[in-house]
Amino acid sequence: MIFKCINCGAEYPVSPETYLCPICSKNNDAKHPPLGVLQTVYDYNKLKTTPDLFSYLEAEAFLPLLPVNHKQSFSSLRVGKTPMYEFKLGNKTLFLKDDSQNPTYSYKDRASNLVSAFAKENKITTIATASTGNAGSSLAGICASQGQQAIIFVPASAPKAKLTQIMMYGATLVPVEGTYDDCFELSIAASKQFGWYNRNTAYNPLTIEGKKTASYEIFTDMHKQAPDFIFVPVGDGVIISGIYRGFEDLLKLGIINKIPTIVAVQSAGSSNLVGNLGSNQPQFSASNTIADSIAVDVPRNYYMAKKFLEKYEGKGVIVEDSEILEAASDLSQNYGLFTEPASAAAYAGYQKYAGKFGFPKNSKIVIQLTGSGLKDLDAVKSISKFPRAIKPKLNEVEKFLEERKK
Ligand SMILES: *Cc1c(COP(=O)(O)O)cnc(C)c1O
Ligand SMILES: [Zn+2]
Repeated sequence: MIFKCINCGAEYPVSPETYLCPICSKNNDAKHPPLGVLQTVYDYNKLKTTPDLFSYLEAEAFLPLLPVNHKQSFSSLRVGKTPMYEFKLGNKTLFLKDDSQNPTYSYKDRASNLVSAFAKENKITTIATASTGNAGSSLAGICASQGQQAIIFVPASAPKAKLTQIMMYGATLVPVEGTYDDCFELSIAASKQFGWYNRNTAYNPLTIEGKKTASYEIFTDMHKQAPDFIFVPVGDGVIISGIYRGFEDLLKLGIINKIPTIVAVQSAGSSNLVGNLGSNQPQFSASNTIADSIAVDVPRNYYMAKKFLEKYEGKGVIVEDSEILEAASDLSQNYGLFTEPASAAAYAGYQKYAGKFGFPKNSKIVIQLTGSGLKDLDAVKSISKFPRAIKPKLNEVEKFLEERKK
């Protein structure tokens, strides 16, 4: 197992000291996506000879495809193995993979769990990260369950629920008067200075590896079949790369013979990956969307995500904030799934794609949901108008119901 630079191909040992390729990252600046992100490479040929390979991998908690040696290194919390709900809609089937049902209520737990396990095997007790909210609350919760110390750098303006979660888990919360980018650089400098392990998204290659486990589960959930389409919300592009990584593993091991069509969904107020697909002169503009978890100015895993989308003919969809809010209502009211806007964006993307291109007959479509609606109540304020309070009298109820009809 090795780390390989996605830009120059240089190889590095898998170690807690290795983050970005030192050659390619030399001239990185905050205005452009970082070069030198590392991808983990495995010896597929050796694994391929194993009989009944997928069952073996499942039984081994996929350890042969992860940079961790022992199952006990992972958190004892139930990370992943999230619900998959199936709905027959005309001649297509919709599958909702609900990652809000992770221990800290977001997809980020998949990455935090691997980073934490890897730290444990390397005798590291303190892990730092920059976060806009979910990565921080996730690392804080997973570290709490593992007896590790978490240090979380966040913009002081992050959503209150996520900050409260970080505090409740007993992590060291470092609010920074600055942007997420400021937090990112500061957390790396502080990690070097104080000898902490760093979980920053895409900067730490294990964040990408950790996020691939959803693909294995989707394959299991669908009775050892790959879907035709997967809709994925995209901010920094680590979840989507992780999902590609997972299916690519299965492809390279001969377990599947085709990568699903993966559709990257971004908000119109933050479309710095989808907006640049097919272009060699990328433009990056400041983000402004209610979906704070996918509000990203310069995607940290831009090059890897773009490469995957181009290699496997993935697609991109851009949705408006109003469509995200509608999707959030629709998911809540028609499926009982209350997810945060970044997560509802995936469903909005599916609806938009359905309207624009439609789907071939008998398509199996997965919507990857990523975070709980309770994490960001302010975002849905505009569509959840609370009714007036009434006196505890029966005739008041009748009046109230009449009013509601109008
Ligand atoms: C982080 C996050 C995303 C986007 O993931 P990226 O890896 O940044 O693309 C989507 N939804 C939620 C809820 C998240 O927390
Ligand atoms: Zn390189």
